[in-house]
Amino acid sequence: MSPSAPTDRAGWVALAARLTLPTGLYIDGRQGPAADGALLPAVNPADGSVLAQMACGGAADIDRAVASARAAWADGRWRLMAPRARMAVFARFADLVERNGAELALLDSLSMGKPVVDALSVDVPETVVTLRYFGECIDKIEGVVTNTAAEALHLVSREPLGVVGAISAWNYPLLMAAWKIGPALAAGNCVVLKPSERSAFSPIRLAELFVEAGGPPGVFNVVNGLGPVAGAALSLHPDVAKISFTGSTATGRQLLIAAGQSNLKRVALETGGKSPQVFLPDLADLDTAVDAAVRGIFDNAGQVCNAGSRLLVHTDLQDAFMAAFTLRAAELYRPGDPLDPATSLGPMVCREQQQGVLARIAEGVAEGAHLAFGGTADPQRLQGAYVLPTLFTGVTPGMSIAREEIFGPVACLIPFETEDEAVRLANDSVYGLAASVWTADLKRAHRMVRALEAGVVWVNCFGDGDMTQPFGGYKQSGNTRDKSMECLEGYLQSKSAWISLS
Ligand code: NAD
Repeated sequence: MSPSAPTDRAGWVALAARLTLPTGLYIDGRQGPAADGALLPAVNPADGSVLAQMACGGAADIDRAVASARAAWADGRWRLMAPRARMAVFARFADLVERNGAELALLDSLSMGKPVVDALSVDVPETVVTLRYFGECIDKIEGVVTNTAAEALHLVSREPLGVVGAISAWNYPLLMAAWKIGPALAAGNCVVLKPSERSAFSPIRLAELFVEAGGPPGVFNVVNGLGPVAGAALSLHPDVAKISFTGSTATGRQLLIAAGQSNLKRVALETGGKSPQVFLPDLADLDTAVDAAVRGIFDNAGQVCNAGSRLLVHTDLQDAFMAAFTLRAAELYRPGDPLDPATSLGPMVCREQQQGVLARIAEGVAEGAHLAFGGTADPQRLQGAYVLPTLFTGVTPGMSIAREEIFGPVACLIPFETEDEAVRLANDSVYGLAASVWTADLKRAHRMVRALEAGVVWVNCFGDGDMTQPFGGYKQSGNTRDKSMECLEGYLQSKSAWISLS
């Protein structure tokens, strides 16, 4: 936990009052306005108030930022710095994030409504671990000498790609930025980050801290701006070697098209999900399973790519599961002011997202699903974009609530009779980000792991993992992995040097 973090609401409010919100584009080591002076309001989703007017970058600003990163790449101020020196920058960078953890947590809480204690206890420490992990990798990036005939020496070295364009989502603004820039910079690339226009405070601050840690200006730039304008310009830019993206499947498609229309840049996609949680009749402990199920869908108000939104429950367990789930959801998730440490459910990121989630819920009702609890805005907090935790039962696999990603606190309970049926239901999705299986039978657990079409399968837990875990999806949930050494590989390319000795 951050050393100076407030412990009560008054403390967080006082810290917010003292804070200078980062609102500029961060290019070449300093904040500044957009070329055309465009502004975008940052709105607090907890009460609809305008927090600040932020610089809103366009194509000209993306050009400036890419030129800055390209210049830093060309003169080698980062990639040619000795690995140990870059590691020292990363270590200081991680320390600075930790030291400024309260401020960073507050920036995310204000901009997208996450309970500040969650940002402080999850997002900030995970960001620190991400930076430490990838920083520690820097001098472990090695090439090979292959086994050739005596007349040749063959060296395969691994080099960074150049300028990486990172485009991130708003649900974990600081952490998603770190999952991109951590491996990209550790591999020796320069970066232009286009954060979500809904939550750009902490990414801008992150770039400042990189420079404060000794990172050369120009290596890590941040251009806040609208997706179809700034994001599109980055995705079409001829000097960008790779786009690393976290966001919706629809935007992912646009990025693949843009790569084809421009320079065939690499496109790494982390996109949507509709993750199944499968509860088999032989699970060891229903309370533990239900606890994980509740957290798996209602954490971060359901705005989680791997949210376990499809509860596949064996018919023998259904009644007990329902009763326990309903009780535990009410105990664990209390809506409130995100700056109040007692709050465990914040608002949706914005009014549009709230309306979108409520529209999906209305669709579920119209399709004939049974609304077991929730399903509305929070009547106590109509000025904010809240949606109460929601459970549907009587859901059939064809209903839109069972198929579409809702990205809100909405769970669907779907009963099943046999293991085969559970697998069929779980895999009946265009997505394949994550899944969980609850069973005490080891053989069954392994069978299910093999059968489930998902990049991550949790057994008797949900959402667990560390930095060694490749995180990413099968099918339309993406084509890459974040975290892990596999992720670092994606920011490198190999160079073969074949040297004749004859
Ligand atoms: P989004 O696709 O609307 O936006 C993501 C980012 O893309 C934003 O920075 C946005 O400005 C930008 N963007 C939008 N249109 C663009 C365009 N035409 N060209 C270039 N950039 C563009 O997604 P969102 O609503 O911000 O985030 C929610 C989505 O993100 C959900 O689908 C969720 O599942 C997904 N997500 C996935 C992961 C993962 O690791 N797989 C993690 C978090 C979120």
